[in-house]
Amino acid sequence: MEKEFTWDYAPAPEAKDHAKIKKQYDLFINGEWVKPSTKKYFNTINPATEEKISEVAEANEKDVDLAVKAARNAYEKTWKKMPAKERGKYIFRIARMIQERSRELAVIETLNGGKSIRESRDFDVPTAANHFFYYAGWADKLEYAFPNRNPKSLGVAAQIIPWNFPLLMAAWKIAPALATGNTVVLKPAEATPLTALKLAEIIQDCDLPPGVVNIITGFGKTGAAMVNHPDVNKIAFTGSTDVGKIIQKSIAGTNKKATLELGGKAANIIFEDAPINQAVEGIVNGIFFNQGHVCCAGSRLFVQESVAEEVIQKLKARMETLIVGDPMDKNTDIGAINSKEQLLKINEYLKIGADEGLEMFQTSCTLPSKGFFCKPTLFIGAAQSNRVVTEEIFGPVLTIQTFRTIEEVIEKANNIPYGLSAGVWTDKGSKIFNLTSKMRAGVVWANTYNKFDPTSPFGGYKESGFGREGGLHGLMPYLSF
Ligand code: ADP
Repeated sequence: MEKEFTWDYAPAPEAKDHAKIKKQYDLFINGEWVKPSTKKYFNTINPATEEKISEVAEANEKDVDLAVKAARNAYEKTWKKMPAKERGKYIFRIARMIQERSRELAVIETLNGGKSIRESRDFDVPTAANHFFYYAGWADKLEYAFPNRNPKSLGVAAQIIPWNFPLLMAAWKIAPALATGNTVVLKPAEATPLTALKLAEIIQDCDLPPGVVNIITGFGKTGAAMVNHPDVNKIAFTGSTDVGKIIQKSIAGTNKKATLELGGKAANIIFEDAPINQAVEGIVNGIFFNQGHVCCAGSRLFVQESVAEEVIQKLKARMETLIVGDPMDKNTDIGAINSKEQLLKINEYLKIGADEGLEMFQTSCTLPSKGFFCKPTLFIGAAQSNRVVTEEIFGPVLTIQTFRTIEEVIEKANNIPYGLSAGVWTDKGSKIFNLTSKMRAGVVWANTYNKFDPTSPFGGYKESGFGREGGLHGLMPYLSF
């Protein structure tokens, strides 16, 4: 295989001494650090080494109540009344300060989440800053965004985010909420709280009026207390479809507005007329980017039968060159799986796929002896009935199916409970338009994959949730008309 034409890179570890991480974090409520009423703290670790990094507070209902009250107070007394132009300035300030501290944020993101430093440095942190820049610009232009509709803020937003893009998801949630004049209580995922807590420090340094953004930590129970708090007007959730369903049930019959961004199982489709080398690169980026910890990961590959052999052979050769290991090394392509639980879940799916009789291919790399790692994996010759095809794995695992006609692939790609994203690779513009209009997916990338921009809306169909984040559309869920 082509491996013999490559050579090993010397390690290029990113320094971590400039990243200031406290030993213990309290709750950020009303502009101050407050001890949790539970008096409990839980450890947060580095999934690449299994070492403890810090410990963070566990908030209970009382703490949630305190945070919601602070947000309500800030909303009524300060934020709602402030001229929109002034609100915009604060948001710009947050964006600039994220840029100034980008190196520290990238290091902490990688230490706490396991993703490669290259990715947190080049994708997560700059995209988070860009979201704040983009929405800062909208703050005083809502009348132009929605002419003659008199847009009004909602009040207090409870925002709950997952562990795959901790800082970026915080930015996706906080920036549009503030730009539309709402105040916020945000909870990062229990596994990855540290960059959100760093963001709290940035918010403090920006002199944002106390209570406009409150950041609290805890587990699912804390999230549930936020959802069920009677004085919350809006819930923004990104996470699993199971929890999304619980949230929807618990707010049924209330006036709370919600946006849910849930799971996915995206189809990435290669036609025989596609530029194959580019497509292979896109497939690799689509599923192995961030260890496959991406709701929109292109986890189901559909290849037109006539080019299947070529694509699979090129894909295997490209996968062999991927560097799996220390996420702090700038050469690393695939870092650590986010947690032990997630690794166990992925390993279970590897077993399910093998038991289902599928041909399994894993690269020949050696995994580090400590930490949570998984080899990039293919399941070749998969079918619609395989569990590895229909269920979300959230790891670096790609199933491969073949097809003959465009009708067949549309049918197969759509035959799934999810509908977050999809990809199509072809030389023909007409095929792209035909397919994109028939795919039941919120985002369809053509001849590229996993491209994000703050101006462009993102969100799902079916069990992938509802509501859009990003772009002009991302303002709407935070407004009433
Ligand atoms: P994942 O599988 O990505 O970890 P989860 O849906 O379990 O997704 O978690 C996403 C976020 O939702 C986390 O911040 C988690 O603490 C929170 N969460 C978990 N259970 C609940 C719940 N019942 N109500 C509200 N939030 C919850």
